[in-house]
Amino acid sequence: MHSTMFAMPLTIARILRHGSTIHGSSTVGTWNGDGFDRLTYAEVGERAARLAHALRTRLGVDVGTRPQDRQGVVGTFMWNNARHLELCLAVPAMGAVAHPVNLRMTDAQIAYTVRHSGDEVLVVDAVLIDVLAPVLPLLPSTLRHIVVAGPGDRGPLAGFAGEVHDYEELIADSPSDYPWEEELDEHTAAVICYTSGTTGHPKGIVYSHRSIYLHCLQGAAPNRYDLTLRETAFPIGPMFHVNGWGIPHAAFATGADLLLTDRHSKPASLARIIEAGRPGVAAAVPTVWTGLLDELDARPRDTSSLRRGLVGGSACPPGLIAAYRERHGVELLHAWGMAETSSLVTTALPPRGVDAEQEWAHRVSQGQFPVSVRFRVVGPDGAVVPNDGVSTGELQLRGPCVTAAYHGGVDAPPHRPAEHFTADGWLRTGDIGNVSPDGFLTLTDRAKDVIKSGGEFISSVALENALTEHPAVVEAAVVAVSDDHWGERPLAAVSLRAGSRVDFEDLRDFLRLHLASWMVPERWAVVGRVPKTSVGKHDKRRIRDEYARGLLD
Ligand code: ADP
Repeated sequence: MHSTMFAMPLTIARILRHGSTIHGSSTVGTWNGDGFDRLTYAEVGERAARLAHALRTRLGVDVGTRPQDRQGVVGTFMWNNARHLELCLAVPAMGAVAHPVNLRMTDAQIAYTVRHSGDEVLVVDAVLIDVLAPVLPLLPSTLRHIVVAGPGDRGPLAGFAGEVHDYEELIADSPSDYPWEEELDEHTAAVICYTSGTTGHPKGIVYSHRSIYLHCLQGAAPNRYDLTLRETAFPIGPMFHVNGWGIPHAAFATGADLLLTDRHSKPASLARIIEAGRPGVAAAVPTVWTGLLDELDARPRDTSSLRRGLVGGSACPPGLIAAYRERHGVELLHAWGMAETSSLVTTALPPRGVDAEQEWAHRVSQGQFPVSVRFRVVGPDGAVVPNDGVSTGELQLRGPCVTAAYHGGVDAPPHRPAEHFTADGWLRTGDIGNVSPDGFLTLTDRAKDVIKSGGEFISSVALENALTEHPAVVEAAVVAVSDDHWGERPLAAVSLRAGSRVDFEDLRDFLRLHLASWMVPERWAVVGRVPKTSVGKHDKRRIRDEYARGLLD
C-alpha cells in the first residue's frame, strides 16, 4: 500500500526559505573584534537570493535538480561569518554544490581538494588572500573565478589566470528573491567537505540535501544542541569542518540566533564573544575548550548564559568536563562523530534515575546513538560482538546521514575502499570500543592510535585522560613508537602549566595511581604546545614523525 503523504523532498532550499521568512527577525552576529555585525535571517535570505542570481547569470554556475545533472561547484575560502553562511545556504538551495575549503590544510592539500571537487568559483575572504596566494600556482585551470569578500589588497591575486570579482559588486544589482529549488531530488549533492586527511589525500564526502536536512532536525533536538527560537547558538568550529557541525542549518530551521567568530578564534576572543553575545549553546573540539578554560580561569568573564557546550572531534578528557561543571557551571556534553557521519552521531546525555557514579560514567562516555543510525561492533575475528558494554571491536555504521562511499572526483564514480567500507555495506569508522545495552558508546581508541605493547593493547586515550587529571598538565597526547622488545610502547607528549614544577617520575607515579604500571610510558617529551591538525585535534602523526626524527626528547 502506498502512503497518502506528499513526497515532498527534504531540501536546503526549504531550510533557507523557512529561516528567512518564519524566523526572519532572528539574527546572525559576526564578531568584528569589538562587537557584532548583525544581519537578520530575512536579510541573509535576500543576500542569498542576490548571490544565487549572480552566480547563475554572471558567473554561469550550472544548477541541477537530479543526481545525474551537471552541477557547478562553488568553493569557499572563508572564516565563519555571515557571508559564508549565505553562501553555504544559497549555493545548494539554487541546485549547485558548496565546497567549504579547509583553509588550514597544507597548500598542496588545498589545491588537491579544489581540483578534486571541481570548483569553478572560489569565494575568498579578503583577509585570507595572503593565505591563498601561495596556492594559486597549484590551482587547476577549471577554476574560472575568484570572488573576493570584504575590503583588502587584491594584489596577490594578480597572477590568477581567471577573472577576479568583488563580492558586494557582484551581488549588488541582482533581485532579492530567487526561485529556490525546493522540489529537487533530495538525493542530489548539496555540499562537499574533505576529511582533514591525517593519512593520504583528503577524502571527499558529498552530503545530500536529505542528509543535511535530517542531520539538522536531529541536531536541534534537546539531547543535542537543544535549539529553539529563544536560544543563541555559537558554533566555534569552522564551517569547513563538517558544515559547522550542522549548527548553522539547525539555527535556520529553529530560529535560534547565531554568533560567528570570523577570524577571531583565540581563547580571549571566544571569552569576549560569549560575554557580549550571551549564547546558551556552543560547540568545539576539546583543545578549544581547554584553551578557553585556561582563559576563563585566568581572566574570569560573565559566561553565565552558556548552559551547554558540545565537545567532540576527539575524546574529551573527563577532567575538562568536571572543570567546566565545577568552576563555570557549564554542562560540557560529550559527542562523537566524523565527517563521514555528517558530524554528530552520539551525545552523552545521562539517562534518568541513575546514581551519581552512573551519571558520570554516562557523561564521560561518547554517548548514545540516535534513531537514524544503525550500528554494530565487530571484533578482531570479523564477528559482530554483543552490545554488553564490555565486548570490544571496531564500530561500524549505516544511516541516512552516513556516507556510503567517498567522492571519486570530477566525472569519476564514488569509490568504496575496503579499508573504510565493508563488503556488506557498512562504514568502518576505524574507532575501537564497546556499546552498552542502552546504546551508549565507549571508545577506547582509534585503531591507528592504539598501542600494541607485547601482545597487549594500551589505550592512548586512557593515558591522555589520566595525564590531564594532573594539575601541572595542560594537554597530553600519547602515541605509539616502535620498541625493540615490546613492538610498540607509548610516548607521552605533554604541555605543562606555566611555572609548574614536575618531572617525569612524578607523572609516572601519578599514572600508576590510575592505570596498570606496565601501561605507564617510559618515553616522555615536554612540548610548548601539542601540535594540532587543521581542525584543532592533536596531530599524532606529526608527534610520531618528530619523535622518529629525534626532534622530541
Ligand atoms: P579526521 O579523521 O580528519 O580527524 P573527523 O573530524 O571526521 O576528521 O574525525 C573523526 C574521528 O574523530 C572519529 O573517527 C574519532 O576517531 C574521532 N572522534 C570524534 N569525536 C570523538 C570523541 N568524542 N571521542 C573520541 N574520538 C572522537
